[in-house]
Amino acid sequence: MQPAPATVLISGDFPGNTLDALADTCTLLRTKGRPPRPNELARAWAWICPLTQRVDAAALDHAPRLRLVANYAVGFDNVDVAACTARGVLVTNTPGVLTEATADLTLALLLSVARRIPEADALVRGGRWTGFSPTLLLGSSLQGKHLGLVGLGRIGRAVARRAAAFGMELRYWSPRRADPATETALGISYRGWGELLAGADVLSLHCPLRPETRGLLSREALARLPAGAIVINTARGELLDTEALVDALARGHLRGAGLDVFAGEPAVDPRLAALPQVVLSPHIGSATHEAREGMARLCAEAVRALWRGETPRHALNPEALPARGDVR
Ligand code: NAP
Repeated sequence: MQPAPATVLISGDFPGNTLDALADTCTLLRTKGRPPRPNELARAWAWICPLTQRVDAAALDHAPRLRLVANYAVGFDNVDVAACTARGVLVTNTPGVLTEATADLTLALLLSVARRIPEADALVRGGRWTGFSPTLLLGSSLQGKHLGLVGLGRIGRAVARRAAAFGMELRYWSPRRADPATETALGISYRGWGELLAGADVLSLHCPLRPETRGLLSREALARLPAGAIVINTARGELLDTEALVDALARGHLRGAGLDVFAGEPAVDPRLAALPQVVLSPHIGSATHEAREGMARLCAEAVRALWRGETPRHALNPEALPARGDVR
């Protein structure tokens, strides 16, 4: 008798039809973006999930057949990887395919803040523009400004390459220093945390959300930024102290901020939305057709690899595999 096809639970409203092809070997169970119910988790052999859904011990307890969580994101702070490992569940993410899109959005936010694009757009659309004026909507140039990157991974490096083209001076801080060849190729120099903050005309966050990075950009850290600095966050909202950011902006200590991610999203502190020098976007760092297609491809690839008994390319906890013997 043929074994029953494995069930792949798809709990995100993912664009494109890349995942449809998995139906040739698996049974697809789609929730159309709704978090899965216990009876759906109970059937799942693999779970392709969006970053808005938590994969924790409580969810895993409903999923005794689960062998794979393919997280449709590079960040995996929504997944309790240790709990997955303890149950023999492999976790994968989608690195690389969204790097350029997220770096593009980082520069888009920076340019929008520095050149006050949303204010300019609103003025013209609102019919309030009365003609060219030498004093209208003055912003600041990026040329020669110091950009401080927190984290020099895939996205941090892609941002550095773009910022160099705008004539920015590049610095970074990370717990582990990059090799000299990388620093030379990017034209970037390493700084201690305090020094990075003190010299940053623009500070941009590109590190993962982990217990040790939660609240990294604290009230004290924000106070160390020079007056008139700009903060950009396309990483995770919980990396910064929102309360302190609002205060620093309202007092005029910071020139502005560009934010794609928020602690407790989709709720956004209304005080941020009330500040014209803040540019907000709804977690769209990877929202290009190309990146989202790539993310689906990597999730599908992970499912197929594990189905063949191989370790998927982007396994975060390969040690989870032997714990339950055969993968089907
Ligand atoms: P990555 O290649 O893993 O880079 C992360 C970098 O942060 C690494 O250089 C890492 O250093 C560094 N890092 C680790 N711990 C740190 C700490 N405590 N302080 C400062 N830096 C630290 O990841 P990526 O692909 O660039 O993605 C970065 C993050 O962007 C993701 O985790 C995700 O949260 C976010 N993201 C957001 C969007 C969006 O839609 N807005 C899209 C994609 C990604 P080591 O290599 O030494 O560990």
